[in-house]
Amino acid sequence: MFFFRKNGKRLEKLNTRRYVPHYQKDEPIGIYIHVPFCVQKCPYCDFYSVATGDFDAAPLYDDYTNAVITGLAETASINSSLRVDTIYFGGGTPTLLGGERLSSILKYVRKCFDVDPRAEVTLEANPGTLRESDAMLLVKSGFNRISIGVQSFSNLELSRLGRIHSAETAAQAIKLAKRAGFSNISIDLMYGTPGQSMTTWGKTLTLAAAAGVQHISLYSLTIEEGTPYGIVTPPNIPDDDQAADMYLNAVKYLESNGFRQYEISNFSLPGRECRHNLKYWRCQEYLGYGPGAHSYYKDARYSYIRDLAAYIDAMKTGSEGLIDGDPEIIRPRERVGEYLMLGLRLREGISEADYKRKHARDFGPIRAALLPYVKTGHVREEDGRFSLTPEGFLISNRIISDVLDAAREEGTRS
Ligand code: SF4
Repeated sequence: MFFFRKNGKRLEKLNTRRYVPHYQKDEPIGIYIHVPFCVQKCPYCDFYSVATGDFDAAPLYDDYTNAVITGLAETASINSSLRVDTIYFGGGTPTLLGGERLSSILKYVRKCFDVDPRAEVTLEANPGTLRESDAMLLVKSGFNRISIGVQSFSNLELSRLGRIHSAETAAQAIKLAKRAGFSNISIDLMYGTPGQSMTTWGKTLTLAAAAGVQHISLYSLTIEEGTPYGIVTPPNIPDDDQAADMYLNAVKYLESNGFRQYEISNFSLPGRECRHNLKYWRCQEYLGYGPGAHSYYKDARYSYIRDLAAYIDAMKTGSEGLIDGDPEIIRPRERVGEYLMLGLRLREGISEADYKRKHARDFGPIRAALLPYVKTGHVREEDGRFSLTPEGFLISNRIISDVLDAAREEGTRS
């Protein structure tokens, strides 16, 4: 049974009896804490965050911390027996909160849930806001993975992206994290950014692979509506073909340097895959806290409102409107679609055995939709599993759409 606050009622029961609890019922869940603060907004970003670089935000950080703790306490009073094996502090820029506040939230997560002693506990960090004293405290408090938003090792590219840090600061942040005791470090890199060339991208990749990190995520610049880049798109953005070459070049280079591609955008040393993010791609359950945070639990997806002041106020006073819209109930047919769509993002791909076990459906039409792509080298078939090749990832939308069409047709027949 899951409870949440909505429309003036402090706790409301989400009726799950009409839905058959599905296969991941007894698996440990993930906890996501959304920290919605940034020093300033990067012009391409549409994540929910509030810029706090221009004022003393300490009281706001305290209010936010208390609000998240209240939210944890509410659900945990009902769900304290829930097992948790991943915790992820994302943002925004979680490091802006400082070591003390972050540690107190983590302590509360441990108090509220049955947290596995070997849980993966990740903190996202902006290189420009990572202090050594904080990093040491965070390691001591149980954070064991850090994900640093490096984006590029070119100062020109970083300034065009509106980042608050330099390439040197990014390199120092990696060293600082290691000195503080983090032995599981991830960095984010961006390609297809204004003025970027294959040469500058190659230099960034070389420095990234040599930085002694365990995990690298790649993101292509996407122009999002409503962002400054969406309103005035900067010049000299690599075209689709150039961005595709950058992607394929990165896959080849990182794989040849020991980083195995385990997801369309993610690479790691063996055993260092991000366990929390794998939950999203494997359609497993997680609970999110903080404004804008999403949850998937008991076949329902919902998110908290993207409004910091309203979130804090609602948590303080128990007032209405904390959930954004109505929870979306994921029905069996939608679960099939999500399994196929998310599974094909992963190197482990999808298989007939999994499909039958989880969804009790005929895999034949799915196989038929994939076989033409096996012939063209966009899909590989290994040990009964189908997964996309790097070239396949470039046309993943088309392949996934064909597979979803096949699943829909099979669904209407069954
Ligand atoms: S620091 Fe990260 S979350 Fe904040 S605005 Fe920039 S890209 Fe977005």
